[in-house]
Amino acid sequence: MISRPKGTNDLLPEDIWRWHKLEELIRKECALFNFHEIRTPVFEETKLFQRGIGEGTDIVEKEMYTFLDKAERSLTLRPEGTASVVRAFIENNLQEMGLPVKLYYLGPMFRYEKPQSGRYRQFHQFGVECFGSPEPVLDAEVILLASEIYKKLGIKNVIIKLNSIGCQACRPQYIAKLKDELKKSKDSLCEDCVRRLDVNPLRVLDCKEEKCKAITKSLPPIYDYLCPECKEHFNKLKQILNLFELSYVEEPRLVRGLDYYTKTVFEFTVENLGAQNAIGAGGRYDKLVEEVGGKPTYAVGFAMGIERSLQVGGALWQKEPDVDLYIISIGDQTKEEALRQLRLARQKGLKTELDTLNRSVKAQFKQADKLKAKFCLILGPDELLQGQVKLKNMQSGEELQLPLGDWLGGIIL
Ligand code: ATP
Ligand code: MG
Repeated sequence: MISRPKGTNDLLPEDIWRWHKLEELIRKECALFNFHEIRTPVFEETKLFQRGIGEGTDIVEKEMYTFLDKAERSLTLRPEGTASVVRAFIENNLQEMGLPVKLYYLGPMFRYEKPQSGRYRQFHQFGVECFGSPEPVLDAEVILLASEIYKKLGIKNVIIKLNSIGCQACRPQYIAKLKDELKKSKDSLCEDCVRRLDVNPLRVLDCKEEKCKAITKSLPPIYDYLCPECKEHFNKLKQILNLFELSYVEEPRLVRGLDYYTKTVFEFTVENLGAQNAIGAGGRYDKLVEEVGGKPTYAVGFAMGIERSLQVGGALWQKEPDVDLYIISIGDQTKEEALRQLRLARQKGLKTELDTLNRSVKAQFKQADKLKAKFCLILGPDELLQGQVKLKNMQSGEELQLPLGDWLGGIIL
């Protein structure tokens, strides 16, 4: 027996309809907000992610699926969407669409992680990226779009955590202060954080270890160190979120520890998901396009975990029945006409099925019940000779005798 690779899932027919509904919801909402879909390859040159996500991150350090192809090129299965979209934005001169360029993507991502509930090696993300505007109104739009989707999924108690991590003018001072303070308590930090202290001290703020949290709790918030421009940006963003009636929690220790993230960072969490409680995250990354080789371009984006979002959302959704109509043929001489009617019904837009296993009439009715067919069209040999068929409403049990050429009118869905 060959099993699926560790950390992957089969999306089976019994669940896939929820995915379709969520995808439909995402597409509708993105259209409302005037975002356009982009599809990029699932693998890219490894150096795109090294540069676009950053060397000091968990993703690049430990989680990438990297391989050499037959021509010895180093390729990597995409661990996230932003770097690829930025690459495509530059390569295809998408700024010519007119700024701001508002894009979204939907698809599988790959990370070599320790599989557990809500954490997989192949998982799916929906994400958006906006290019070309420094204004906080775009940060707010991205947050609003995400919130609307969570709301329409029926996820209650979504917490929006919000912070600003400043820019290249003000962040270095804060990092210097952070380093000074953390050095004093170096002996009490976890092993990872001791390393982070040199590579990426901001990330210490993000550590999940209790002993590190205890130390960072008493440190001054980054807000105190923001330059006037970053402060104003953050305050304006909060005003717009208030205007949109979105409540958020300011989280001074929320960081995305990379140099090209600037100003806004945010995360969406829910309480009832256990350890993996983040259902989405994003922020502004005004330096990334340049980092990947493009012209300096303002940008802000967000990514949502589809599996985790469906784990808490969509509970009130109803699956649509598989078929509207089941065609039952009694006796061999009706089978040809059944096929003709099958084709006609589908042409008229009815989801239609008939027996393809040579079942008895009783078994055909059973099958119609199993498929929760709303109607059955019954072709009996004697009636058919007179050009008649029976249409049975499976819910009310009502049966109508109708002309062969005119039974469609009896169907009310
Ligand atoms: P986490 O802290 O849970 O590792 P992350 O910071 O690595 O999350 P992002 O890179 O911000 O996650 O990705 C955005 C969203 O994608 C997450 O909020 C989460 O919902 C989802 N996600 C990330 N990694 C996985 C995974 N391995 N399996 C399933 N969903 C994931
Ligand atoms: Mg992670």
